[in-house]
Order: sequence, then C-alpha cells, then structure tokens
Amino acid sequence: MKTVVITGASRGIGAETARLFSKNGYNVVINYNKSEQAAFKLASELENAVAVKADVSTEGGAKFLIDEALRIFGSVDVLVNNAGVSMKKMLCDTTLDDWKRHFEINVESVFLCSKAASEIMVRNKWGRIINVSSMWGIKGGSCEVCYSAAKAAVIGFTKALARELGPSGITVNAVAPGLIDTDMNADLTKEDKEMIIDETPVSRIGTAADVALAILYLASDGASFVTAQVISADGGLI
Ligand code: NAP
Repeated sequence: MKTVVITGASRGIGAETARLFSKNGYNVVINYNKSEQAAFKLASELENAVAVKADVSTEGGAKFLIDEALRIFGSVDVLVNNAGVSMKKMLCDTTLDDWKRHFEINVESVFLCSKAASEIMVRNKWGRIINVSSMWGIKGGSCEVCYSAAKAAVIGFTKALARELGPSGITVNAVAPGLIDTDMNADLTKEDKEMIIDETPVSRIGTAADVALAILYLASDGASFVTAQVISADGGLI
C-alpha cells in the first residue's frame, strides 16, 4: 500500500486530494498547521489516514512531517506539496514581510518537504512529487506579484528537480489550478466570479475535485513517463 503525504490538507484542494487518495487505497498523511479540528475530522472519516500538525514553511516542521509519515506508515511514496497562501495587493502596498511570507509558505515548504521526502524515494527507487502551482505562476496575476512570483518559482523548481530525480525512478510534476471554489477565494464577489466564468471556455469555476483528479493521475504508475510537466486544471482559462 502506497503512502501519500499531502501538505495543507485540512481544507480545500488538499482535503479533497486526501479523500480521493484514501478512496484509491493509499495511506494518507493529512498535514495541517492551524485547522486542527478540520484535519482530525477528515482523518477520522477516511480509511488509513492520520493528521499531522507541522508548519511546513520551517525546516523543523517539514522534517517532522516526513519523519512522522515514515514512522507511522513505513514509507513516503507520493508527496503533494499543496500548502499555500495568497493575497491581493498592489505592488506599492506590498511589504517585504508579505513577500517573505509568500516565499516561505509557497516555495520554501516545497523545497524543504521535497528534500526530506526524496531521500526516502531515492532509497526506494520510486517516487512521485506533485507541486501545486497556479495559473498565475504561468500568466502572472494583476495585484498578485508575490503570489505569482512564488508560484512561478514552484514551476522552475519542478522542472529542475524532475531532471535531477528522473534517473532514480522519481517523477516531479506540477498542477496549475485556475479559479477553484475554496476558502482561498472567499473574498471574491459574485461579479468577480461571473467575470472569470465568462472568460473560461468550460464556463464554470473549478472544484477541488477537478484538481485532485489531476494530482491522482500524476501519482499513478501509468504516469511514469510524465515528468517535468505543468498540468493546468483551469477550464482552459490560460
Ligand atoms: P485553502 O482552502 O486556503 O487551504 C490552504 C491550506 O494550506 C490549508 O489546509 C492550510 O492549513 C494550509 N497551510 C497554509 N500554511 C501552512 C503551513 N505553513 N503549513 C502547513 N499547512 C499550511 O487553499 P486552497 O484553495 O485549497 O489552495 C491549495 C493550494 O492550491 C495552494 O497552494 C494554492 O496556492 C493553490 N491554488 C489554489 C487556487 C484556488 O483558486 N483556490 C488556484 C490556484 C492554486 P491550516 O488551515 O491548517 O493552517
């Protein structure tokens, strides 16, 4: 039975990914930072799932998470780097602290968790690392310079690491979601959403399940020839 570690799985895309992997027979490590109740509730509803608290933007947190997965389930086969934060501010209002926070949570967590998990994957000569980027990391979002730059960094990291780890039987890919109906977009008005829907070829907002299914595919044995890719789950918007 394979083990998946999903960072930021207490809510939104991460939580839905945990549900889908559990249904598909994986051991699931649900990482959370602040949403303890939600993470434990989710773990209690799923087969072979545990909730592990760790701030994955810190070296200690990332290492603890991967060590716990190894201790509880004996391996880490799939790592989904999903934890993230976003913010909408004009450049003139963006502070250095905003910038640093976006890079710590959205990028350094990907580096730290991948570093810890890949040690295990290299030993196993098999692994899957799937990083959750964003359409804004490809296109650039107005009033989202920190977020767009951080998500673009995740894509660069993905492509480079895929080349390094390919010979060890490990694939590294990214998904780039479009607008997905989660807490992250709670601030959008009905009009904002309608404008985005108008520009989206499939004429709807995405669901967390739309993204989770792309992640499940990238984790599968059948995706062994797919690496260094960015798969957009954005309804064709980009
Ligand atoms: P969300 O509903 O706001 O959930 C964010 C998750 O990240 C929560 O589970 C949160 O955990 C976790 N998290 C934040 N900081 C953390 C930290 N330091 N350590 C561990 N976990 C942390 O967001 P979402 O919409 O599901 O987004 C998930 C990913 O998809 C993010 O990387 C986001 O950038 C990306 N994305 C989302 C959209 C969208 O439209 N929603 C589009 C493109 C890309 P706690 O609550 O436990 O702290």
